[in-house]
Amino acid sequence: MSDTTAPQTSAAPVDVPSAVRVMLDQMGANIATWLDSCLHCGQCAQACHFHEVSRDPRHSPAYKLKPLVKAYKRHKSPFAKLRTTLGFPAQDVTADDLREWQELIYDTCTMCGRCTVVCPMGIDTASLVGLTRTAMVAAGLGPPDLLATADRSAEVGSPLGMTPDTLEDRIEWLADDYEVDIPLDKDKARVLLTVSSIEAMKYPQSIVAMARILNHAGEDWTFSTKGYEATNFGMLSGKSDVAAKMLGRIVNAAESVGAELVIIPECGHAYGALRWTGAKILGRALPFAVQHITEYLADAKAAGKLKLKPFAESITYHDPCQVSRRGGATQAPRDILAGFAQDFREMAPTGNANWCCGGGGGVAAIESATDLRLKVFGIKMDQVAETGADTMVSACANCRQSLDAGKEHFGWDKDIASLVEIVADHLDE
Ligand code: SF4
Ligand code: SF4
Repeated sequence: MSDTTAPQTSAAPVDVPSAVRVMLDQMGANIATWLDSCLHCGQCAQACHFHEVSRDPRHSPAYKLKPLVKAYKRHKSPFAKLRTTLGFPAQDVTADDLREWQELIYDTCTMCGRCTVVCPMGIDTASLVGLTRTAMVAAGLGPPDLLATADRSAEVGSPLGMTPDTLEDRIEWLADDYEVDIPLDKDKARVLLTVSSIEAMKYPQSIVAMARILNHAGEDWTFSTKGYEATNFGMLSGKSDVAAKMLGRIVNAAESVGAELVIIPECGHAYGALRWTGAKILGRALPFAVQHITEYLADAKAAGKLKLKPFAESITYHDPCQVSRRGGATQAPRDILAGFAQDFREMAPTGNANWCCGGGGGVAAIESATDLRLKVFGIKMDQVAETGADTMVSACANCRQSLDAGKEHFGWDKDIASLVEIVADHLDE
């Protein structure tokens, strides 16, 4: 590697060898194939919301992968050794590359996966951006606010400072105020319910809504102070040790109550973190099923356990990228809304092709990304306006937070709501 630890303009060192080592360590055959197969056709640029609003070529998904491509060509491609032997090695990753790409890798990618849907080679840019984030952390880079949020999760149990004691206090308060039974730390339960601290601290009525629905369905469930936080800022920031720690807490809690099912609340990345990558990160099979709360609700409704009064107002659904496109639970919210929402209007595009809210992938926690994120909200306002719906409902508290911030910034006149809360408000008891 040609570029060793180099001084950053901000005086902080950039550990290039460690960053490249992390990239190469994770570069299996599938990643090598992706990095080799880009046609430079530019189709992904049209799919990325950041490129859509900025028209900046640097925001093209393929461009964001450049440090990874450089590391591959220099060290791992079929011609890497030959080129080095012949005395004209490919360029290596430099400290300047990493400094420059930090913004592109964090501020301008929500890891939404929309670019992959249109890519003729099926290149999974979101995963490759995730890998590059782990390399950025190894280099000593990364947005300080996002990294601090991840560290706080590891230290106190939650990114927003929700300790086990805070959870217990909030549950006691909510149970009293809303007169709902919210079980905590039962010895045994069929279902372990988790929570996003965004919900607990900003939208606490979500906890009440989930409790009402599970009780209405006659479920045997509990929260656990051993593992309650569903969000995983370790995954979002590139801090893989924090990612494993957060997942481990939920798995331990589920095992201690003998849970058959862990329900992820209205949080997109939390669903993918446990359901699709949990076993791989922890290195063992999960001894329970995992469902997003919308999947649980759809199943409960199909089984006749969810009796609902009709929702009459016009409503549209914002697909959280990590629940629909990347999570696979695209149909579940529609099954819930079918017959219940009397005036449901799909956005265009919708489902797996829907535009991101702009705040996923940790972007909502990065202050420097705010201006671009708000511009992206313009796409969502246009989409909802085309439907004519008065309410936009979603199933991700992080989306909800980003959408609420956009609403406030632009003085938007639409209602933004949680699907779970709407369902809870219309239970036919
Ligand atoms: S994953 Fe989403 S945000 Fe990231 S480059 Fe692709 S389209 Fe853009
Ligand atoms: S769409 Fe796929 S092949 Fe085309 S430039 Fe983007 S990443 Fe490369």
